[in-house]
Amino acid sequence: MEMIKNFIGGELVEPVSGEYLDNYSPMTGAVYSKVPNSGKEDIDKAALAAKKAFPIWSKMSPKERADRLFHLADLIEENADRLAKAESIDQGKPLWLAKSVDIPRGSQNLRYFAHAIQNQKSVSFTDIDGILQYINRIPIGPSALISPWNLPLYLITWKIAPCLAAGNTAICKPSELTPMTAFLLSELATQVDFPPGTLNIIHGLGQTTGEALITHPDVPVISFTGGTKTGAHISETVGPMFKKMSLELGGKNPNIIFDDCDFEKAIGGSIRASFLNQGEICLCGSRMFVQKGIFDKFVSRFVEETEKLQVGDPFDESSFIGALVSKDHLDKVLGYVELAKEEGGKVLTSREVRGLKPEHQKGYFMRPTVITGLAPNCRVQQEEIFGPVVVITPFETEEEVLSMANGVDYGLSASLWTQDISKAHRVARNIQSGTVWINSWMYRDLRVPLGGMKSSGIGREGGDYSLNFFTETQNVCVQF
Ligand code: NDP
Repeated sequence: MEMIKNFIGGELVEPVSGEYLDNYSPMTGAVYSKVPNSGKEDIDKAALAAKKAFPIWSKMSPKERADRLFHLADLIEENADRLAKAESIDQGKPLWLAKSVDIPRGSQNLRYFAHAIQNQKSVSFTDIDGILQYINRIPIGPSALISPWNLPLYLITWKIAPCLAAGNTAICKPSELTPMTAFLLSELATQVDFPPGTLNIIHGLGQTTGEALITHPDVPVISFTGGTKTGAHISETVGPMFKKMSLELGGKNPNIIFDDCDFEKAIGGSIRASFLNQGEICLCGSRMFVQKGIFDKFVSRFVEETEKLQVGDPFDESSFIGALVSKDHLDKVLGYVELAKEEGGKVLTSREVRGLKPEHQKGYFMRPTVITGLAPNCRVQQEEIFGPVVVITPFETEEEVLSMANGVDYGLSASLWTQDISKAHRVARNIQSGTVWINSWMYRDLRVPLGGMKSSGIGREGGDYSLNFFTETQNVCVQF
């Protein structure tokens, strides 16, 4: 059985307490590795290592830092197959998805910010009467990088890359449900010439390990991606400590299909938006709104395409949907399907997962589920489910669909499908959402900001937005 280790001060070490948690594979429902149940002592050690490394790392030139990030990216690429397999076993997602999205994005994140830091411009203002002002960007210090279980390597490298590129040191806390690729990353990082303590990865539970990290006095920066409830708790706890904080939180994203859409594109795009990665992407369009003129035709075709999706062995190239991340999460998602029925909804898709291999019989599989007939304000339409469940609601007018789309606490992303370009821009402008895709879904460019409005978070990550977040600005004014 693989024993995962913490990465502190450049070394792979056991947790101080010697305690471990079971790590289950969602494919089989069996324990396949042990993950450190780290405590405050481990976080203290990591914070000390990160604090010691900070003056060394932050004084290196952008090129010296970039060279090390490029080296880590090279190592990810050389080990891509091993990482993809680990991510699939650990998280439940299809191997083809880990290979084509998660792992390549992991190295791209590092490469992007390694280039960006070497091309960063500084801003200055000059006046005719002898005033020069310029703006310094100064790295801040050890930063807490906390990531969720749905896109493990993708999201952790999305934080590590700008944090280190900007000259900070990092203490990462991956989700204990999916620790494996972060562990493999720490093994790879031992081969990179980082000053010891530049990158630390500590495994454990949110309520203990995570809590010790966010409240640590030597950790002035927190970059968190996860659920809205956890984000609210972090904000409340560390608000009085005046730490710099970015919170990327949950979503309940509308996917709006107008009568005049390109029907085939809207069907294909909506299938992906609803069910990719088992619907476990914060950007998934879990609420679909379809205009009345095509409602029946669209729903019938959407259900037909959903029924064709293969659920099962994540290593099988033809599986579109793998296993959900944990037994608890599967139960939660299935609970919402039951709640939908109590709330008056009609489940249009089949429920039974057929054809599972014997070794997957205890895995956490479910069929993608399509529901209609729910009022926009019921719980299933308001709460984040984070699984392969989509609710479809008819609408007549732009005003009506905007009111329903905006009628939730969240505001992370939205999609809309129409051939009318004026309508597309008008509706996009009026959706309360950090990202709007028109005739597409989840096109994610590293340069553009990602983040939510309303309860979907505060702050933006991506390109300069991340480099700004991981630095303090200082204005210097010279009179000469
Ligand atoms: P959680 O909020 O439960 O956990 C996220 C991370 O925070 C985990 O590493 C967790 O550890 C840790 N954590 C939990 N409690 C604390 C605490 N008190 N202090 C510090 N850290 C803590 O989210 P999930 O892992 O369940 O991820 C799913 C959520 O993430 C969904 O809501 C999804 O929408 C959101 N998400 C948002 C994205 C965005 O960009 N806006 C992108 C991807 C996901 P542990 O696992 O041990 O509890």
